[in-house]
Amino acid sequence: MMDTPFLQALAITKTYPGERVAGVKRISLTIKPQKITAIIGESGSGKSTLLRLLYGLLSPDEGRVQFKGERIWGPEEKLIPGHDAMKMVTQDTEGLNVYAKVWDNIAVLMPNTDVNAKEERTTQVLKQLNILHLADKQAFFLSGGEKQRVAIARALITRPEVLLLDEPFNQVDTSFREGLQQDIRQVVQETGLTVIMVSHDPAEVLSMADELIVLKEGEIIESGHPKTLYQNPQNLYTAKLLTNCNVLSNEDARHCGINSSADNIVIYPEWAAPTNSWTRKDFTVKQVLFKGSYEDLLIEKGHITLRLLNDQPGKYHIGDKVHIKINKYLEF
Ligand code: ADP
Ligand code: MG
Repeated sequence: MMDTPFLQALAITKTYPGERVAGVKRISLTIKPQKITAIIGESGSGKSTLLRLLYGLLSPDEGRVQFKGERIWGPEEKLIPGHDAMKMVTQDTEGLNVYAKVWDNIAVLMPNTDVNAKEERTTQVLKQLNILHLADKQAFFLSGGEKQRVAIARALITRPEVLLLDEPFNQVDTSFREGLQQDIRQVVQETGLTVIMVSHDPAEVLSMADELIVLKEGEIIESGHPKTLYQNPQNLYTAKLLTNCNVLSNEDARHCGINSSADNIVIYPEWAAPTNSWTRKDFTVKQVLFKGSYEDLLIEKGHITLRLLNDQPGKYHIGDKVHIKINKYLEF
C-alpha cells in the first residue's frame, strides 16, 4: 500500500491581478513530515505566496494543495482561514497582548476545560522555547528575540502538525538567532513537528533545513539536501543565494589559470587559497576583513577581484603579493 503524501502541492498557480509575472507558476512539491523544509529565493520570487497557498490563506487559480490526501480549503471556504493542523509565524508579533504577562499570552490559547492540562502544557512550551524564566514578565518589556520566542510558543501550544515560518528571525539579533534556530530543531526532533520556513539567510537555511527548495520568478528551479545544493548547485542563481561566491567570465578565469568555455566560472571563497611558496606572485592583497576565527581576503589582479577565506588570521597584510591555488570551481 502506498503511503498518503503528507503535504502536497499539485501544479499550483497563483497570479495576482494586474501583475504581469507575479505569484507562483505550476508548482508541484511534497513536504516530508517531521523535517524542516526551507524555501529560498530572491525577494519577490514567490516564497510568501507559496507558503500562504500551502497553509490555505490563499487559493490557487489552478492546481490543488492536499494535506494527507485531502484538499486544503481556501479562505473563502472557511470561517477562520488557514488549515487547522497548521500554524504560521511571521515577523510581526502583533498577536501579542503587550499588557499581559508572557504566561497569559500563551495559556490563553488553551481551553479552560482542564485547568491542570492547561498549566502543564503552558509550562511545557515555555520550557521548549527556553522562556520559562520570562513567564511573569509583561510582554511589553521583551526584546525582539524574546517576543519571537513567545510568538512561536503561542503557535505550538495547540500542537499543530505543521509550523510555517515566514522570515520570522529578521528582527532578531544574530547572537539570539542561533539559539532560536537550535531550539526549533530540538522541538522538531522531540515532537515530530514539521516545519516549512522561508528565509533569505544562507547560514540559517544551511544549518537548519533538511530540505531546500529554490524559487526563482515563481518557479522551483531545484531542490534537495542543503549540502548537495551547496556543493553542487545546478544553477548560478542557487550558488549566489547560498554563498558570497566569486563569479568570473571565462576570460577572467583564464587569467586565474582556469581553462573553461562556460559563461560563468564560480569560485567559493573557501575553494581558493593564497600560497606563499610560489615565485609567480601575481595577486595583491587589497583588503583584509577580520571575522574573528577567519578573515576574508580581497585580492586583486588587474580588474579581477577575488574574495578568499583565510583561516589563519594575521598571516596576510594589505599590499602583500600572493599566488593563489584554486582547488575547485563550478561552470555555468
Ligand atoms: P517573496 O516572499 O519571495 O518576496 P511574494 O510571494 O511576496 O515574494 O511575492 C511574489 C510576487 O507577487 C512579487 O512580485 C509581489 O510583488 C507579488 N505580490 C505579492 N502579493 C501580492 C498582492 N497581494 N497583490 C499583487 N501582487 C502581489
Ligand atoms: Mg516574503
